[in-house]
Formats: sequence, structure tokens, C-alpha cells
Amino acid sequence: MVDAQSWSKVIVDEKIFEALMHRLSVLFLFLILSSIVVIRGGGGASSVMASMEKAEEEWRAILSPEQFRILRKKGTEPPGSGKYDKFQEDGVYECAACGTPLYKSTTKFNSGCGWPAFYEGLPGAIKQTADADGRRIEITCAACGGHLGHVFKGEGFRTPTDERHCVNSISLKFKS
Ligand SMILES: [Zn+2]
Repeated sequence: MVDAQSWSKVIVDEKIFEALMHRLSVLFLFLILSSIVVIRGGGGASSVMASMEKAEEEWRAILSPEQFRILRKKGTEPPGSGKYDKFQEDGVYECAACGTPLYKSTTKFNSGCGWPAFYEGLPGAIKQTADADGRRIEITCAACGGHLGHVFKGEGFRTPTDERHCVNSISLKFKS
């Protein structure tokens, strides 16, 4: 037989146990949520890319005046003037502003247009945006937004993509 006093003790113990479990579950939930926030904040391409973005005044301090005019103000170097126009060495072309790899030398071809030409960029490295007048497609470095040039499609070049990424030499930095 269980007397009334023992029953009340059992009930009180149960309430304490319940309260304890509730606190533990809240604590676990908090730990799981905070670890998700840490994982999302620490990794991921978007946060890496965001770190490449700078204020225009920061770019002005880092880049030469001609690099700033082309990379940040969407200028164009005179045809035939760039150092990579007739350049053919094995390596990778990086963004001159932020150092992100953009093009492999194996995708470079002689288009005769006066600027370095590539038939494709490294996966995810190049962003394409239609110009305001809709006539040309601008290409920029996906990491820092630096202006590279324009991409032209379906011109009949005998390349795997029949695309011509027409890039200013000054926007690139070759690395063997
Ligand atoms: Zn860049």
C-alpha cells in the first residue's frame, strides 16, 4: 500500500523531472541552432565572395589609375595594346584585382580582335550581365565584380563553345 504522503512525493519528483527535461531540450535546441549559425557564417562561397568586395575608394588605393578605369569604371583598353593579346604560355589567368583564377590558358585562342580571347571561363568564376542597351553581354569577376570585358556568342569560331570572352589584358594577371 502507498500512503498519501508517498504519492505526493512521487508527483513532485515527476514535476521536477519534467522541468529538468524541458530545460535540457531547450539547451539542446539552442546548441544545435548556434552550431548551424557558426557553420553557415564560417564557410560557403557567398561569404568568401563577399569578402572580395570593397568600397570604390579602397579599389582606387589598390589599383593603378588605368586598372581602376577599366576594372571599376568599365573602361576598355585600346585594341592590340594589352600585354596578353598575343601571349601564349601555359598557366592560369587570375583577376588582376582580387586574384581569383578566371581562365585557363588552354581555353585562350587567337580571335584577331586585338584583345585576349577565351572560349570559356573557369566554372562559376565569370558573371554575365546584359548591358543596359541589351546589345552586348558584360563579363565581370564573380568574386569582386571587376569588369573584364564582353562575351560574344555564335560568331562561328571553331572552338568547343563558339563563345568569345573578349577580355582586357589589364583586368588579368597571368600565373604559370
Ligand atoms: Zn576579382
